[in-house]
Amino acid sequence: MKYYSTNRQTPEVSLQEAVVKGLAPDRGLYMPEKIKALPQSFYDNIGSMSFQEIAYTVADAFFGEDIDADTLKDIVYDTLNFDTPVAHVTDNIYSLELFHGPTLAFKDVGGRFMARLLSYFIKKQGQKDVKVLVATSGDTGSAVANGFLRVEGIHVYVLYPKGKVSRIQECQFTTLGQNITAIEVDGTFDDCQALVKTAFLDEDLNKKLNLTSANSINVARFLPQAFYYFYAYAQLAKQGKAKNVVFSVPSGNFGNITAGLIAKRMGLPIKRFIAANNSNDIFYEYLQTGIYTPRPSVQTIANAMDVGDPSNFARVLDLYDKSLDKIKTDISGIWYTDNSIRETVKKTYSETGYLLDPHGACGYQALIDELKDNETGIFLETAHPAKFLEVVESIIGASISIPDKLQAFMKGEKQSIGINKEFKEFKNLLLK
Ligand SMILES: *Cc1c(COP(=O)(O)O)cnc(C)c1O
Repeated sequence: MKYYSTNRQTPEVSLQEAVVKGLAPDRGLYMPEKIKALPQSFYDNIGSMSFQEIAYTVADAFFGEDIDADTLKDIVYDTLNFDTPVAHVTDNIYSLELFHGPTLAFKDVGGRFMARLLSYFIKKQGQKDVKVLVATSGDTGSAVANGFLRVEGIHVYVLYPKGKVSRIQECQFTTLGQNITAIEVDGTFDDCQALVKTAFLDEDLNKKLNLTSANSINVARFLPQAFYYFYAYAQLAKQGKAKNVVFSVPSGNFGNITAGLIAKRMGLPIKRFIAANNSNDIFYEYLQTGIYTPRPSVQTIANAMDVGDPSNFARVLDLYDKSLDKIKTDISGIWYTDNSIRETVKKTYSETGYLLDPHGACGYQALIDELKDNETGIFLETAHPAKFLEVVESIIGASISIPDKLQAFMKGEKQSIGINKEFKEFKNLLLK
């Protein structure tokens, strides 16, 4: 299948090129030229299929033409060696728990898939010395770094905003060493993202180095996120509860929700989506005014959503022919201050016993505020609450236990290189 750039100023490319390049040369994001509807028989049977079977069917629709079936199956099955269960929280509201992977956030799904697909292509091309650049607001860095750890021929550079990720998040990518370099940028997540994008457009760097990106701008990270929308639906279908399903997605860069929009395009019966934001309400404002005004991100307690210029907005526009009215038929927006996030975590914990993380709290509260009686709401619980230990413990006034997987990371020693947000310093570091 071919992939086109959302800016449409460059030729279409193969899957391999889209994955290896990451960003299109015209700064657009790659999109699959076809979004195939899956057959009715698939939807009729979905309740009896496993996560891996479902995911392979979805993966085949995008990647089946370009990767042989056995390889693709291996990649999918190996990526999904953990579950994404749907848990009942209250009334008609369910939590899609995406924190059971190795780094305890949903980024494990795309990060692991991409690491495997990219390694496959690199081997096929006989390439060595590939540099993977990834900007992180907290969780992408660890998922990608752990996905690529010890993979031969690949070196990962994780750029993260100094002082703006939680301590535990930081441990997960600064203690690995080996083929992982953590770069602490004196700036915001948007500055980190801008450095990565600029690196791709720098002719000199691209002549000398093999660069690729592992942010959700990369199709190999972004499309696999559709898998768990299907599987969540399947779990409710099995219980006869899959009518009028509404997905509420805590959003930052909008990669996760865009994967859901793709699932809907493939025929998954989703009634609508809610994009739940923190105080970085750029998308909400766009829905109100029709004008997209990116602005510097502000720091919140849902730090992985502190994005002031969401990359995947370009994909949302593209999917809906740039029409605000069409976008509004599928997506509504809402946003929450830190205080209301705190209130939600506290109240939900005391009333239902379910402990939300600050990101999932936005998704959950959006359903409390917007879900209609005849609808079933699923919010994406995007990370484990223990990743935000200090914040969550201070909200509920009690200590929470840290899963073993997380504790293991906390034992390592932090290794990172500090830089300012000027491109020159970053470039020199890459060339060293
Ligand atoms: C990355 C992240 C988000 C935002 O997802 P996008 O795909 O960038 O919209 C939300 N919550 C958590 C915990 C994250 O790590």
